[in-house]
Amino acid sequence: MALIEVVDVAKSFPSRHGTIAIMDDISFEVADNDFLAIVGPSGCGKSTLLRLLQGLDHPSAGEIRFRGKRVTEVSHQMAMVFQNFALYPWLSVNENVAFGLTSRGWSKEKIDAQVERYVSVTGLVGFEEAYPRELSGGMRQRVGLARALAVEPAVLLMDEPFSALDPLTAESLREEVLQLWRDPGLPPEAVVLVTHNIEEALLMADRVIVMSRRPGRVLAGVIVNLPRPRDRKSAAFYQLTDYVYSLITEGSTGSHSATLKESKPSAAVSGGTPLASSAASAAGAESKPLR
Ligand code: ADP
Repeated sequence: MALIEVVDVAKSFPSRHGTIAIMDDISFEVADNDFLAIVGPSGCGKSTLLRLLQGLDHPSAGEIRFRGKRVTEVSHQMAMVFQNFALYPWLSVNENVAFGLTSRGWSKEKIDAQVERYVSVTGLVGFEEAYPRELSGGMRQRVGLARALAVEPAVLLMDEPFSALDPLTAESLREEVLQLWRDPGLPPEAVVLVTHNIEEALLMADRVIVMSRRPGRVLAGVIVNLPRPRDRKSAAFYQLTDYVYSLITEGSTGSHSATLKESKPSAAVSGGTPLASSAASAAGAESKPLR
């Protein structure tokens, strides 16, 4: 059974001009050990979709299941990392990381040990007593990551986690997140990364869900079979980036499904479920499990 099932989900919000459809007909699955990225233009509903996955908001139609059970309330099996870090400015690094643990009824010793572990794995040793305002963006995002990992979630949800960082910091943090992900001794079991950055999605994920402009629909599921560490200068990487880019731009014309099926027959698109990537296999990439 898939860890998460998204089945025919639609979401709309009321507005002054009537109801606005944000996304429609969204279906995909997240399996154990999946590193899934969701890409699409700004405003296509990616962040909203993450909120729906965690149960912070509810679909207008369709349903989301976690381990076979419909998500009807906030899931504590999932933790979110935010673009703007969302730290509590009045709390120290240690206190921010401990925040999600305080409601668990754990002893102080157990919380302290957990905080120490995740402060350490995210490279924050020496900064335990610092406040967010004293930290660089990269360090703040480490705190966001430590706080999310400390609850040992089954699914880590990441909402544009590198977008607010300078390019070099973003690059090194991406690599560190992948290293943490590769460590079988650490949570989570799956990652869902939302990004508008196609390169970032293809550098990090095993599968990429490509969404259209609003109302967001699944244009394709792309399996990224490129070997790791991924070389963004390789022909195969370039080809795949170009392919995803063209999916989004073609999709925005409103003729995506016909175009897709005609022009990329082996990039299988079936009911929104990711199947295969023609571009990766055409480029001679091999399948390589991440963990
Ligand atoms: P993305 O992450 O792809 O940029 P979002 O999920 O943030 O897109 O937003 C999609 C659209 O939904 C935006 O136009 C946004 O203004 C709208 N939206 C998001 N949340 C709400 C809400 N609670 N009420 C009304 N509109 C919303």
